[in-house]
Amino acid sequence: MLLIVEDDLRIRTALTRALTERGHAVASEPAGMPALQRIIDDPPDLVVLDLGLPDIDGIQLLRMLRPVSAVPVIVATARDDDVATVAALDAGADDYVVKPFSAEQLDARIRAVLRRSAGPETTVLEVGDLVVDVRARTAVLAGRALDLRPREFDLLAYLAARPGEVVTKRTLLADVWQSPYGGADKTVDVHLSWLRRKLGETAAEPRMLHSVRGVGVKLVPAQA
Ligand code: CA
Repeated sequence: MLLIVEDDLRIRTALTRALTERGHAVASEPAGMPALQRIIDDPPDLVVLDLGLPDIDGIQLLRMLRPVSAVPVIVATARDDDVATVAALDAGADDYVVKPFSAEQLDARIRAVLRRSAGPETTVLEVGDLVVDVRARTAVLAGRALDLRPREFDLLAYLAARPGEVVTKRTLLADVWQSPYGGADKTVDVHLSWLRRKLGETAAEPRMLHSVRGVGVKLVPAQA
């Protein structure tokens, strides 16, 4: 789903129609703050962001968004506004189009950005409301950054890359601890319990991190 954030009704309607005709599912928001909330609650595949919004500057919105979401963003900038374009790219925009632009051009840029973000460059893993950025080594749960030790992060990233898959402790020792000949299961248990606590859950009442008795563990999106 694409999200168009644009306050100009005429542009919003025209873009929605043109991109829908080109096979995209399109949603739109006329203001920045509701858009930000929507992106966090129900992440779209890509955001087309107008910089001149009535409630909040598009660049400011990007700065608020980036710590919690890696959703691809294409900004729509006014003609000849190099300063805003550079600021938007610095704030984490993936690409930009200069107004007025054609739906053809925007669609081409959308496809290019989606191709790039789907490639092996992607290091951001999302499991429900958990976002793990493997390269930046950050983990954010429901908008709150988790304070993880290096091994806890490695463990979480490993499980987040395999959502729903039951992983044995032997496998975790081999792949996360690089200790293929086994060793102390207790090491894994202890780290899992630390991780659980940081995720704000317990083994008795798991939310995301579930033990499968006698087999291993799995990470699943939290049930709403
Ligand atoms: Ca505008």
